Amino acid sequence: MNGRTPVSPTPRSARPGPLHRGRRGGAALRAVLFDMDGTLVETEQYWGLAMSALAHDLGGTMSAAARERTVGTSMRVAMGILYADLGVERDEAGLQADICRVEERTGELMTAGGIDWRPGARDLLVAVRRAGVRTALVTTTPRRLAALVLARITDDLGADPFDTTVCGDEVPARKPDPAPYLAATAALGVDPAACVVIEDSHAGVTAGLAAGAAVLGVPSLQPLEPRAGLVLRPTLAGLTLDDLVRLADEGVRSAV
Ligand SMILES: [Mg+2]
Repeated sequence: MNGRTPVSPTPRSARPGPLHRGRRGGAALRAVLFDMDGTLVETEQYWGLAMSALAHDLGGTMSAAARERTVGTSMRVAMGILYADLGVERDEAGLQADICRVEERTGELMTAGGIDWRPGARDLLVAVRRAGVRTALVTTTPRRLAALVLARITDDLGADPFDTTVCGDEVPARKPDPAPYLAATAALGVDPAACVVIEDSHAGVTAGLAAGAAVLGVPSLQPLEPRAGLVLRPTLAGLTLDDLVRLADEGVRSAV
């Protein structure tokens, strides 16, 4: 990763963290909950390559439309999309074997190819940490793969920037279910209504809104349609902590 200045972790003694009130003195920003793939880091290409390799081995080619629909979904859902696209059927054992292959290949590609930040992601994460606002990484990716990304992020920033991390194999339901975000807010001890979720996928946006958070959408591979409670930005570049405070303060989620 392209490192710049190291950032120190928020002291644990500072928990639960200060209130960052917006200009109206309304709802406070207590935590920022980051999706991982496609939001913080450029890893979606690796998932795409791994699924394309599996499609080839199954005798077909994954269409771009099918690939787009898999973004942000669980592996079970993604494999269902792939099988339908190819017109193949797989039993449970085949499904589990395919999931293992895709995950292993994705991990290999991450290790060999490196992991880059999405535009503006590093600066925003550093700014949130420096302000003492609590942070969570909330990803559908299983822990063993997320750990590869977390290690790179920690190396680049000089410390683990997250107060808690929630991975797809650690929750009872995956995005678009709100369970991953509710697990994160419970771990942080914060009200979801005082949080901003940052996501790049439809499934992730749906999960964040269902959890009761304000959601900032930054589309990567998958277009995001305007929805009540969702603020869209092309990238995180130039985004400031004040922008996130305003997002929580103005309660875009209450626009439903
Ligand atoms: Mg994502």
